[in-house]
Amino acid sequence: MAASLAQVRARISAACRAAGRPADEVTLIAITKTFPASDIRVLSSLGVRDVGENRDQEAAPKAAASADLRDRLTWHFVGQLQTNKVTSVVRYADVIHSVDRPRLVAALGAAARKAGRTVTCLVQVSLDDDAGRGGATAADVPFIADAVAREEGLELGGVMAVAPQGADPLAAFRRLAGVAARVRAAHPGATIISAGMSGDLEAAISAGATHVRVGTALLGGRPGFVR
Ligand SMILES: *Cc1c(COP(=O)(O)O)cnc(C)c1O
Repeated sequence: MAASLAQVRARISAACRAAGRPADEVTLIAITKTFPASDIRVLSSLGVRDVGENRDQEAAPKAAASADLRDRLTWHFVGQLQTNKVTSVVRYADVIHSVDRPRLVAALGAAARKAGRTVTCLVQVSLDDDAGRGGATAADVPFIADAVAREEGLELGGVMAVAPQGADPLAAFRRLAGVAARVRAAHPGATIISAGMSGDLEAAISAGATHVRVGTALLGGRPGFVR
């Protein structure tokens, strides 16, 4: 794991150098889905400060098992989110990357206020307008961003996207950067661009990503796992 982490960090540094950006501008989020909580412990001991999960059923017990690491870890929720899971998710998630509809904004706000927490939310942007994979259309993003910004208990952090399958990731991430700029024009604090995974983090960093979400390149393949 130490060797994989060093490789991923080297890829991030090289991509930042190529883009003329300081390496500390990009945060590595270790996506630990399908791997045990003990791996989160190892990653933390290696200096990883951000971890991400995509299913509440798996994330909630892993967060509970890692409770003693609470002060050292920022928890990201990156999967599609149903409103009936928000009460659980706001208990451990610091950043939710997958906010893509007004009803979810209202439910998250109510849950966060009830839990006495402030949760950072990113608006997930669909870059291929395939609703099945989650995300709002670019046209709907400003409206959802405004709703998050207005909602007590939530803080608008920025935007997130997954590159469309089979398309040029760089072109897709550049479109995301355009959407991010429009959001930032209305909400100057919304500076996060969450984009890039094991296979396309260089393209994402070149297009301005501030956060990359890396699973496979850190922890290996997920046998039998379908995203
Ligand atoms: C699984 C997942 C990742 C990590 O993907 P890898 O290709 O394993 O690096 C990133 N983002 C989201 C939303 C994911 O579900």
